[in-house]
Amino acid sequence: AKEAGRARMICYETAMDTDREERNALELDLRNAIERQELTVAYQPLVDAVSHQITGVEALVRWNRPGYGPVSPDAFIPVAETSGLIEALGLLVLRKACAAARQWPDLRIAVNVSPGQFRNPAFADYVRHVLKDAAIEAERVTLEITEGYMIQNPERTRQSIERLKRLGVKVALDDFGSGFSSIGYLRQFGFDRIKIDRSLTMDVLTDSHAREMLQATVALARALDLPVTAEGIETEEQGTALQLFGCDELQGYFFGKPMPEAEISRRLAVQTAR
Ligand code: C2E
Ligand code: CA
Ligand code: CA
Ligand code: CA
Repeated sequence: AKEAGRARMICYETAMDTDREERNALELDLRNAIERQELTVAYQPLVDAVSHQITGVEALVRWNRPGYGPVSPDAFIPVAETSGLIEALGLLVLRKACAAARQWPDLRIAVNVSPGQFRNPAFADYVRHVLKDAAIEAERVTLEITEGYMIQNPERTRQSIERLKRLGVKVALDDFGSGFSSIGYLRQFGFDRIKIDRSLTMDVLTDSHAREMLQATVALARALDLPVTAEGIETEEQGTALQLFGCDELQGYFFGKPMPEAEISRRLAVQTAR
């Protein structure tokens, strides 16, 4: 039994070493990808809940890792967060998104911001520089931040949001409903919008508890005068339900997956022609 125990231990250590090696290799490749500007940005349509016309896009980072293929942001954003790469990555995405936005004067551009960026007191300054370089109106840019960070650091969140809003950019609370939500608390922060996480919207038609939660959440947000985006809409019926609950904006595969810039432009051309 002792022998078996030792063997298992060795196995376990080897697995840990392998994990660490893989993570280090991923980090190194990511660092190179950022330096060489190999990361790209895909754009997912945000649509008006009633007309289904495109009113904005969310910028989502994409990485085609050499020798591996596409890696999910859920796999590499956390690595970027813990290895000091997130600020460079975030800046790259913001630059590309603002540059792309120049072709779409009527669209809102939503960009995800990690706690590691948001936490930096100089964040608002570099946002200001990017907006100036891209010559894009601040009002068209919405920065999406997740509720986890807000709850852990309410005071810093408030300060960061204030600085950003002084620039004229909008701030949305992302992934709402995925963690410990306390909507009553939202009011103090000056958010311009909330985005309801897919983990809530996906069950809208099948789970009466999810439905009631959603209904109550959207009603409360509307009572606070906060517009609401529902993400993860995969069917027309889900979209209809969320529109009826009071969401003004929808996002999800039913309306379009994240796509290249040119595809957004093509859809806009079709939309205006109609
Ligand atoms: P998120 O901000 O909640 O973004 C929405 C995610 O849901 C995206 O995944 C999108 O492709 C996916 N999605 C949208 N509609 C549907 C749908 O109808 N069905 C399903 N199954 N999925 C849908 P993606 O692109 O893999 O990004 C995952 C997460 O990675 C994002 O979640 C965001 O938290 C983070 N992320 C992506 N790009 C960036 C970035 O540039 N910076 C930072 N800090 N985080 C990013
Ligand atoms: Ca988001
Ligand atoms: Ca989400
Ligand atoms: Ca997220």
